Amino acid sequence: MNFLEERIVKDGIVKEGNVLKVDSFLNHQMDIELFDQMGAEFKKRFADRPINKILTIEASGIGIACVVAQHFGVPVVFAKKTKSINIEGEMYTAEVESFTHKCKNQVIVAKKFLSEEDHVLIIDDFLANGCALQGLIQIVKSAGGTVEGIGIAIEKGFQSGGTVIRNLGYHLESLAIVDGMDASTGEITFREQ
Ligand code: 5GP
Repeated sequence: MNFLEERIVKDGIVKEGNVLKVDSFLNHQMDIELFDQMGAEFKKRFADRPINKILTIEASGIGIACVVAQHFGVPVVFAKKTKSINIEGEMYTAEVESFTHKCKNQVIVAKKFLSEEDHVLIIDDFLANGCALQGLIQIVKSAGGTVEGIGIAIEKGFQSGGTVIRNLGYHLESLAIVDGMDASTGEITFREQ
């Protein structure tokens, strides 16, 4: 097991409905030393890519993305969630369905922060069905930029997102891939990588 898998086993809580709760170290209270290890690992895995920007989505991706960005020495842009629909123009927009909140959000990035010159590493905390990632990819494409790679902390391998994104040809790296979890026993199975 790697450092993140060990931490998930130690402090993660398996909930009904295929939800893994990691709010004691990842997406509510945040363990910045752990984030730093994650940043170093992503830097290693994407070392050959000319990354000049990190893109994530609010809210829980932002903390991880900031620490990862320090390892790459580049800025972070986060896509903002908004309910309003009349914000075309100076913004790139995409629609994202939330796995945890079961609602649709429009996400926006101001055009001045993303362009065809950008080589983007997309970072997020979880990958489930891949809606969040598809939205972020669409935003980079609208800007004419290049998705150099995608770094995920925890992929739920039993949901479709990872397969869909890899089949689209993107270089997707997940630090932990959960292949199964049992809410009654709390048992978590990881994919060998
Ligand atoms: P997707 O768009 O891939 O279906 O879901 C990704 C988003 O849903 C992530 O940004 C994350 O915030 C949230 N998410 C999905 N599955 C889980 C989960 O098991 N636990 C937690 N805490 N968040 C999740």
